[in-house]
Amino acid sequence: MKNPDVLVVGGGLAGLSAALTAREQGASVMVLERAPREERGGNSRFSIGAMRAVYSGVDDIEKLAGDLGADDRARVDFGTYTREQYLADLARVTQHRGDPELAQLLVDGSTETMRWLRRIGVGFRPLYQWQFKQADGRIKFAGGSAVGVAGAGEGLTDALFKAAEQSGVTVTYGMRAVSLIESEHGIAGVRARQTMPNGARSIDLPASAVVLAAGGFEANAEWRTRYLGPGWELAKVRGSRFNTGDGLRMALDVGAMPCGNWSGCHSASWDFGAPDLNDLALGAIFKRDDFLYGIMVNARGERFVDEGADIRALTYAKMGRAILGQPGQIAWQIFDRKVAQLLHDEYRASQAARYRGNTLDELAGQLVGIDRDALQATVAAFNAAVRRDVAFDPGKKDGCSTVGLEVPKSNWAATIDEPPFEAYPVTCGITFTFGGVRVDSSAQVVDVDGGAIPGLYAAGEMVGSLFYFNYPGGSGLMAAAVFGRIAGRSAAQQALSGQAQPRSAVR
Ligand SMILES: Cc1cc2nc3c(=O)[nH]c(=O)nc-3n(C[C@H](O)[C@H](O)[C@H](O)COP(=O)(O)OP(=O)(O)OC[C@H]3O[C@@H](n4cnc5c(N)ncnc54)[C@H](O)[C@@H]3O)c2cc1C
Repeated sequence: MKNPDVLVVGGGLAGLSAALTAREQGASVMVLERAPREERGGNSRFSIGAMRAVYSGVDDIEKLAGDLGADDRARVDFGTYTREQYLADLARVTQHRGDPELAQLLVDGSTETMRWLRRIGVGFRPLYQWQFKQADGRIKFAGGSAVGVAGAGEGLTDALFKAAEQSGVTVTYGMRAVSLIESEHGIAGVRARQTMPNGARSIDLPASAVVLAAGGFEANAEWRTRYLGPGWELAKVRGSRFNTGDGLRMALDVGAMPCGNWSGCHSASWDFGAPDLNDLALGAIFKRDDFLYGIMVNARGERFVDEGADIRALTYAKMGRAILGQPGQIAWQIFDRKVAQLLHDEYRASQAARYRGNTLDELAGQLVGIDRDALQATVAAFNAAVRRDVAFDPGKKDGCSTVGLEVPKSNWAATIDEPPFEAYPVTCGITFTFGGVRVDSSAQVVDVDGGAIPGLYAAGEMVGSLFYFNYPGGSGLMAAAVFGRIAGRSAAQQALSGQAQPRSAVR
């Protein structure tokens, strides 16, 4: 292939959305993917495939997922998810820190981006498993992530790579971008190292515009400790081992402005026995997101977080950090017989570390390192604090809370008193980092002096100032696709119009 108009670094959802969009604009496109072909797809491939988008009812769901049939239409209340709700959820969980312009781009681009993904071959299905299940068998959608990708992350990236192949995008695997090539007109290409059977070779790849979509630094233990803080080298990586911050470093090296929550990340409750780096064959079986039905205790036998603060989609992404802060970076999720049937399938996977006892003491005796007496006291105090005047109801945000505890439980507080009792050891699983580079509304990277860097665009996890402290579930994939498309369109337009200006001229 002759020099492409647009070079995209990273073959996840952001990079492939950029590549396909640039191609639609008529640009020639090459994607550099660090992973070998068998491991392609980044975190996007590891994902559950939940996507948060504005929708106005069941008809919008059917436009994505196809005909649902009369039964599902009758037994499911899909509700709606408005632009205002999405913006409010985003603002609330990020403590009003996020850049409002980026938030609006994400939210306003969400519905059309879902339809675009559908058009290029991505299949969708309603996300029944993460909604409120009511006692009469009805399902009530909690708003937000109403649909997921058919085939989850694997289905998503298979469809994207297939579309890329069909549209003439070139994808090179085992190609690690290491630096950006600069010219007087701005960014003029990428220097990469290509894995060869007998070693690696360095190669310069010129292009008129470059889109960086290489993920965050979640798989880089040294950077995690440097930016997220002490102890973060001990977090387990839930996704791709290839997201080590290369794209961010390359951008910073040419003067990009760092922005956003560099000490923050998405991190969830994850099986303590999971490997340090996840494996595609294992996927999401180590996910332990049902904490809201029980309690979580640390090695001191103490609760340390409000397990029922809100619906799962708005709390799970900060649970990893809460657990990492506990002694030994371990906690145990504890449930009794009443709620055990509510746990999702991964809790029953053969790889799940699980303990069971007919008394709490029998259970505690198996939890190595826990203060047994303190655990008993914690459960007794918890049980005594559970409100009896409000019914426990997993079919809604039930307001069944504790009263008078230093660490409250705000919803789904059920006494833990019916054997058998179960415990699941959990630790912090990091998903992706929040720190990134500043981009403008065309996804062009902004430099430390506030001027756009000609020829340089960024998308996906690399975009800073969108998420702080926490995030609404399903908005990681959405952000990847929305900003990928914006970056691809802008890069193609710049490349095809030949409008890259000398750097000084755009300041
Ligand atoms: C277990 C798990 C479950 C998740 N579930 C969901 C979910 O259900 N919903 C949701 O919204 N979000 C979810 N997420 C988050 C979501 O996957 C990410 O936010 C999103 O996929 C990011 O897309 P991206 O394209 O920016 O990054 P990625 O998909 O990670 O792609 C980055 C790519 O860059 C490549 N790369 C890195 N360095 C280089 C280099 N130097 N040169 C070339 N290529 C490079 C990597 O190999 C990778 O392919 C989940 C994440 C994980 C780990």
